[in-house]
Amino acid sequence: MQNDFIVPERGTLVVPGALDIISNINTFIHSREYDVILACQDWHPVNHKSFYTEWNGKNPFDQVEMPYGIQTLWPVHTVQGSWGAEIHNGIDQTKFKFLIRKGMNPEIDSYSAFFENDKITATGLGSLIPRNAQLDCVGVATDFCLGSTALDALKFCNNVRVLAKGIAGITEESSAFMLEELKKSGVTIVT
Ligand SMILES: [Zn+2]
Repeated sequence: MQNDFIVPERGTLVVPGALDIISNINTFIHSREYDVILACQDWHPVNHKSFYTEWNGKNPFDQVEMPYGIQTLWPVHTVQGSWGAEIHNGIDQTKFKFLIRKGMNPEIDSYSAFFENDKITATGLGSLIPRNAQLDCVGVATDFCLGSTALDALKFCNNVRVLAKGIAGITEESSAFMLEELKKSGVTIVT
């Protein structure tokens, strides 16, 4: 939940509805149901290959072939140390036990908080999750980082849930598709 994904006009990759889920996420954070709150932060070098500006003649949302597969190109976002990379100040961060940063390698994007998009390079988050924990996921974007994180979470944890009141996606169509993928894979969607 970082400024570039949330703040209208100033954010560079605003996810529709992201502002509206902040209070629900805080409600979850303050719920007594959770022993540990983990956060993750997209944290790109300014020359990250997922930025369309690194490619000649490409536009945001074009796709390119990378060594690890098809990569969508994005507007420049969540650059290390920038305002856009900061966690939105509406989110209560005082309960964060860990903050995992991802997307630091300029050659590989990282949607999931567990593995980079090559599906091999681990971020280290998996080693923090007990197999029998209940892991609930919230944040943006449903159709990319949130969904990929929940799918990969199944590799480490038997009980993965996505809380629908705490998510928002880039498009309705791709978010609906991702939610179906999650259900088929064994993630529980809590409405
Ligand atoms: Zn990114």
